[in-house]
Amino acid sequence: MKVHRAVRYRLHPGSARKNQQLHGTAGACRFVWNHMVGKLRDEYEAWGICNFSYMSTKNVPTPGLGRTFTILRRHSYKWLQGYSAYIVKSSLQPIERTYKAFFKDLETGRKLNRKPPQLHGRWTTTPSFPINYESAKVSGESLYVQKVGWMKLAGSNPYPDGEFKSGTVKYECGNWYAYLVYEVDTQVSLPHSIKEVGIDRNIAEGRLAVLSDGTKHGGPDLKRKVAKRKRYERSMARKREVWWKNQKNFCGPKPQGRPRYQPSNRYLRTQIRHQRACAAERFARKNWGHHVSKAIASEYDVAYVEKLNIRGMTKSAKGTKEKPGRHVKSKSGLNRKVLASAWGTLELCLNYKMEVRHVDPAYTSQTCHQCGHVDKDSRKQTDFKCTACGHADDADVNAALNILAFGNGAAGRGGGDTGGKSCHSRPGKRQEMGLPDRREPVKLST
Ligand SMILES: [Zn+2]
Repeated sequence: MKVHRAVRYRLHPGSARKNQQLHGTAGACRFVWNHMVGKLRDEYEAWGICNFSYMSTKNVPTPGLGRTFTILRRHSYKWLQGYSAYIVKSSLQPIERTYKAFFKDLETGRKLNRKPPQLHGRWTTTPSFPINYESAKVSGESLYVQKVGWMKLAGSNPYPDGEFKSGTVKYECGNWYAYLVYEVDTQVSLPHSIKEVGIDRNIAEGRLAVLSDGTKHGGPDLKRKVAKRKRYERSMARKREVWWKNQKNFCGPKPQGRPRYQPSNRYLRTQIRHQRACAAERFARKNWGHHVSKAIASEYDVAYVEKLNIRGMTKSAKGTKEKPGRHVKSKSGLNRKVLASAWGTLELCLNYKMEVRHVDPAYTSQTCHQCGHVDKDSRKQTDFKCTACGHADDADVNAALNILAFGNGAAGRGGGDTGGKSCHSRPGKRQEMGLPDRREPVKLST
């Protein structure tokens, strides 16, 4: 089976000219992007329609984005000729995709959660540009980018036989990085005896992932890293304010709307330190995910996890101006905890080490694993004591056992990967009332 795998390398430009050329290419992409997005906005405002497609078509009078770029490059902005046309052109492709999704939402009248493409601010966008096998080459430990030249890659490649397909070059934390995507062949071997495990994910300290065999995996210790990041955040807030106050001799037209400012050099310096602190936190979490998932995958073949809509769960409780939400502060604190507990990271890391199946999360923590009785009073914080049969266990281990049982069908819930869909049957409830299972047709005696 062919799969795509991304590898992150540090990219050493090797000379000031190449470094400048990388910044220039990213800048050209941003410039052309803003030009196109602005043009499409104007067209849409004037005519209520805009030609956002990359290719020109016969039935639309305005040329496509690719053709418009060529005209720009040849006549209006000749400085663009110093950068790879292929790279800058291909960086426009998300415009078409985003607009298509946006208009589809408009047509179908679904809840609008998509925006049309946004303008990229000079100080708020990470300089980056896309590459692929036509605009770049990979040979050994070097990367060739059109109009920039050969540069050295630092980092290890776990897929030496992989075929380079595409990637992104990004300026992060004050350094250049290359994210290369390889097409890799994977051998899928089915194990003879399948060992299954249920995993309950949590936000409590020391038990971020609890297995059905009773193993508890605590999270990474990020206290110092978080403190460092927050210190830089405070520092940045101060610096931005200081700069704004110094604008006494500001002349020219008063800026409209949000104040537009150019950050000071001290602000930019702290910003890079802040980005490094963020990256350290991110890497620590990822490292934890890989360690824990490796420990799980070395013992088991199939993992059952709850299908959690993390984005939906961590939505802000703020509400609207007319209808303000309740408990906004405590919800935002919970959201932060959920996001910090790296659920998504763990699932991602598990996903390519073993088979991950999803289970409907309803009642996993309220069901008794022994008798199947569902009662929310059974659970008291971290302890579980069944109100029906008196079975006592750790609440998270009980939940993990339930996830495993719901997943492999031992609890009579249909079993297997439900894809997160509700199974419409509370386990144990019908059996308790002496009713036949809903799935088996009741035979009438004639
Ligand atoms: Zn019980």
